[in-house]
Amino acid sequence: MNPVHHPRKRFGQNFLADKAIIEKIISFVNATGEDNLIEIGPGKGALTDFLVSLCPKMQAIEVDRELVQLLKKKYSRFKDFLVHEQDALKTDYANFKSDSKLRLIGNLPYNISTPLLFQIISQIELIKDLHFMLQKEVASRLVADPKTKEYGRLSVIVQYHFKVLPLIAVPPSAFRPIPQVESTFTRLVPHQKKPTVAFCEKLLNQIVKGCFQKRRKILRNSLDCPQSALIMLENEIDLSRRPEDLSVADFVKISNIVHLKRESNK
Ligand code: SAM
Repeated sequence: MNPVHHPRKRFGQNFLADKAIIEKIISFVNATGEDNLIEIGPGKGALTDFLVSLCPKMQAIEVDRELVQLLKKKYSRFKDFLVHEQDALKTDYANFKSDSKLRLIGNLPYNISTPLLFQIISQIELIKDLHFMLQKEVASRLVADPKTKEYGRLSVIVQYHFKVLPLIAVPPSAFRPIPQVESTFTRLVPHQKKPTVAFCEKLLNQIVKGCFQKRRKILRNSLDCPQSALIMLENEIDLSRRPEDLSVADFVKISNIVHLKRESNK
């Protein structure tokens, strides 16, 4: 094994190097020995060093083979610590199922954070909470309100499923190599009781995706549904509005009306 690991750009390797930030992160995560804790992208172990002491049976998913070897060696005294050499985007999180739900933590490579969030949402019933380092811009999209430029598909779908809490603003200087962007360490907790419930979440996803693909168009022209459903919707929602003007609850309402219309046509 090469003892000197050179950061790989293609794996988004900007390692945490700021002790004060690392301590804050560890304190916010508040890991215990009972947790079903999975770290995504442990790298050289900046967070793992602390997490594995608090939760010795934690597991990690790392795509870089060289780092996997390094981590196995570094934490060999923790007999229950497992590091899986795999891609977090191709991971079936049901494989980590146990009596307690999953707590996922990671200083994520920026290029995987959005697809990873959508993938995790597809298995959300497994999740207790997420603590992710995200590009500031992505974190802003997660908490964005309607009528803002950050508001879009990611905001609606994530806010439908999670309570989102930005915890720490992290400057580029906290990483090595230093990235071009600012970061926000963010907590996402699935709603125990959703503020609004979609009868069919697949349909909600389709509608939100379709609408934001035609962001500038008014709903009447961007909604991909039969004329009869549009007529029903017209009574409930002002279809001259644009997708970015609608709240999460509005999207759920549209999705539920279209769903009921479809069901009644069966
Ligand atoms: N946690 C370490 C730290 O804070 O110093 C490393 C963070 S670095 C930003 C991202 C880590 O995720 C790297 O170790 C990288 O190899 C790993 N990684 C990149 N893509 C991945 C993927 N698709 N699945 C799992 N790990 C990945």
